[in-house]
Amino acid sequence: MEPGFLEVFDTHAHLCSPEFDLDRSEVESRARENGVGFIEIGYDEASSAEAVRFATSTRGICSVGIHPHYAGGDPPPERWGFIEALAVSNPGVVKALGEMGLDYFRNLVPREAQLECFREGLKLAKELGLPVIIHQRDAENDLLRELRSARLSQPVVFHCFSQDENYADGCLELGGYFGIGGVLTYPKNDGLRQLVKKLPLDRLLLETDCPYLPPQGFRGKRNEPAFVLETLKALSAALGIGVGEVARITKENALRVFGSLTS
Ligand SMILES: [Zn+2]
Repeated sequence: MEPGFLEVFDTHAHLCSPEFDLDRSEVESRARENGVGFIEIGYDEASSAEAVRFATSTRGICSVGIHPHYAGGDPPPERWGFIEALAVSNPGVVKALGEMGLDYFRNLVPREAQLECFREGLKLAKELGLPVIIHQRDAENDLLRELRSARLSQPVVFHCFSQDENYADGCLELGGYFGIGGVLTYPKNDGLRQLVKKLPLDRLLLETDCPYLPPQGFRGKRNEPAFVLETLKALSAALGIGVGEVARITKENALRVFGSLTS
């Protein structure tokens, strides 16, 4: 991946997921051919270790973290200790911590356990100073409260942003960046298309969350980084700004957040 070649950056990909086991390198080449770079996102110890290996072998970058769906089990300090070791021993590829956060929609783990795990992740983020990638569903107040008390000074990425203006204001106060994904392309999401116009341009990021949440036109299929171009087009239309310009701005924002888009 030659620095400078990438035109568009996908800030949330899970290419290490089993959904890509049969054709991972084809998917990765397809991204590269389309000028799309991406950051591989870990969600527990195993996927984070895998993300580090993958990013190292593809000269890409990754994040390491514990998603709220996986927040149960061993004590959080032990679990985040493993994540810390990955981050500290691979500074060239690990460019963020996460995803982490709270999910009261699916509630796969009891709230108290989610909170405990999230707090430990934020504590580590404070120590390491790495940008944080947030997953949040139906837990807006608790999430903003925890972030406020963590008093981080690094960027915080609100992944798959699809909430309202009130929440967006809370995110902005916390140094937030907004991960805009495939949901922006869905016909019913006029509210989100209106809202993105009110968000500062220098806080917008593009993402896929692949293999999940494919853009309209690919719904029912597996998502992949190259499909971020559909979300780019939708964001360009919503903002009334040219596609090339939106690509440039969002890539610059990603570079500001992660420090480097390749390794
Ligand atoms: Zn994700």
